[in-house]
Amino acid sequence: MTPDHVNPEAPWPHLAALERQTEEAGRELVERLAITPAYVRDAGRWADEGMARHIRRMSDARGYARTNAWFAGSASAIPDEAANWMSGGPRTVAGRGRLTSILAAAQAGRDLAEQEIVELFTVADHDLPAVLTAADELRRVAVGETVTYVVNRNINYTNVCNYRCGFCAFRRGGVQGACVALRTICPLTEIAERTREAAAVGATEVCLQGGIHPSYTGETYLRIVRAVKEAVPSMHVHAFSPLEIRHGAATLGLELREYLSRLAADGLSSLPGTAAEILDDEVRRVICPDKLTTSEWLETVADAHAVGLRSTATIMYGHVDAPVHWARHLLRVRALQAATGGITEFVPLPYVHMEAPLWRRGLTRSGPTFREAVLMHAVARLVLHPLVTNIQVSWVKMGPEGAALCLRAGANDLGGTLMNESISARPVACTVNC
Ligand code: SF4
Repeated sequence: MTPDHVNPEAPWPHLAALERQTEEAGRELVERLAITPAYVRDAGRWADEGMARHIRRMSDARGYARTNAWFAGSASAIPDEAANWMSGGPRTVAGRGRLTSILAAAQAGRDLAEQEIVELFTVADHDLPAVLTAADELRRVAVGETVTYVVNRNINYTNVCNYRCGFCAFRRGGVQGACVALRTICPLTEIAERTREAAAVGATEVCLQGGIHPSYTGETYLRIVRAVKEAVPSMHVHAFSPLEIRHGAATLGLELREYLSRLAADGLSSLPGTAAEILDDEVRRVICPDKLTTSEWLETVADAHAVGLRSTATIMYGHVDAPVHWARHLLRVRALQAATGGITEFVPLPYVHMEAPLWRRGLTRSGPTFREAVLMHAVARLVLHPLVTNIQVSWVKMGPEGAALCLRAGANDLGGTLMNESISARPVACTVNC
């Protein structure tokens, strides 16, 4: 199809024409690896493990080649091709009836089917602007032109954790060796002091999450909430993932709702909907086999909503997952919101691969591609409309340019300012996946 020679000044001279003609024929030209997508998606079966690790790292969720050097959490520049997604390029999908009808159904707020959502996630490049533009229009309908954020501080009260999530670079376990020196435990007095410091520079919220320390009980979490409220009574306490909630309730022998009510009575304001990763047990068995299951996560969040607490909902994507898992996740979040109405915002968290144990062992992809990450915000807006009105973009993981683009593709919220270790310096934020 193209001359077989290498010319640095004009590489692959016929590719642009080939791409144009392929599109005119209603098809899409996509770069692949030497191994084709069906085998890429099951690389562990079809390739020697020494090769499979490279295949995973060089591929996207569809099994095609990664074609640029953007990685979540790396501060890399966004790919050049992104410039065409929101300016120029086709804005309509005339003649593509299937996509047109899916977008119309989303704009009408109808429940989309799993396969329809998969099609949005795997849309051809020439239809990408239409999907992003539709999401942007729905954002305008749902929340207008205001971009929101909260001034907050993260307080990670301990990184000691009994669990071994394969994507987590935050936890420290062992009782010997190098791990011990890196273990952190933030005493109640320090939590109170950090809360006062945050309030002094304008924070209205503290976000508290940590590992599951083997000696922590439900009483520990109650004491943490009280420490914050006693330090600054007006502070919004956004704390404890569904995993921490279940751990706390179990250690006190309480029903979830009873424990959640006690936390709320002591001052807990809302829950981060983290620990969701991918709400599909097929994926959870690989990336976090000892963690709570999909149904346990959904049950815990529903119980929080039932006692009057509100929560976010997250998705952590770009590792061993596929578009079908993302579709199931969004459908489960939508169903939960339809039942309870307690989700304040949906927060896509692209997998930051660099220090993740599973990636270091060659068992995951290298996070989502930029295309996948932007699409996640847009498709979430389309699928969750009108039930979830706020779609948050993580400026830490997407970078400033990436976050700006997501704000034109369905997102409307920038999350928190995330003051961390030093509130007098430039805000520093955590890029681990926890
Ligand atoms: S993600 Fe949370 S529960 Fe899992 S290992 Fe890390 S700190 Fe522990």
